[in-house]
Amino acid sequence: MKLLDCTYTEVKELLKENKNLIIPAGTCEQHGPHLPLNNDILCAEYFAEELSKATGCLVAPTINYGVNLPCDRSFTGTTSISKDTLRRMIIEIIDWWRHQGFLKFFIITFHGDPFHIDALSDISDDIYIIEPYEIDYSGILEKQTTMRHSCEAETSVSLYLYPEKVRTSLIEEQDIVFEDFREYLFHEKCEKPNGYIGCLGYPKSATKEKGKILVEKMIERTIKEYRKITLEN
Ligand SMILES: [Zn+2]
Repeated sequence: MKLLDCTYTEVKELLKENKNLIIPAGTCEQHGPHLPLNNDILCAEYFAEELSKATGCLVAPTINYGVNLPCDRSFTGTTSISKDTLRRMIIEIIDWWRHQGFLKFFIITFHGDPFHIDALSDISDDIYIIEPYEIDYSGILEKQTTMRHSCEAETSVSLYLYPEKVRTSLIEEQDIVFEDFREYLFHEKCEKPNGYIGCLGYPKSATKEKGKILVEKMIERTIKEYRKITLEN
């Protein structure tokens, strides 16, 4: 259930039952020639909603901007905020909710940029980050062993969740191996890598069937993480 759809009196009532709040954190980021810029927003919202259904927590409005790779700047439409700005935003909005009686805050993101994750991690004892894509990919994918970017795994997830948004006829492959991309991933190199089309890995091998298996594992991980955190804290 969405916080934005409630009146303030309804939120007050719901708070008596459940004091935890889910916050989807997306990013406005290029996803190669075949996926839309809001891919990570849609995924964060999807897993937030699944967690809400399983736990009864409200879902806060999505944060639509995150921290992106500097080397993505020339991909038109991609928009980033700094790590400090994202962290500050989380601190400021949660301060209001905490004041109103919410106790624990679960940020769900589908964007693995290390600086983005850093901005959302270890903010305070009552704020937790859940990354649904942190699952075991073995035996599911044909050409990859991990999540890359707009890749076999991510495109499969999108084909399962939002097939109408995937431009399948435009899928291109031009992998850059992890080692060669490392400096770009850690924001040490900022220019566009040679031959980079915005995808890493092998999106041509993506299928809806693989997406279904991945999404089910990701839902399971999201709920398991939530339960683990609420039991331990
Ligand atoms: Zn993504």
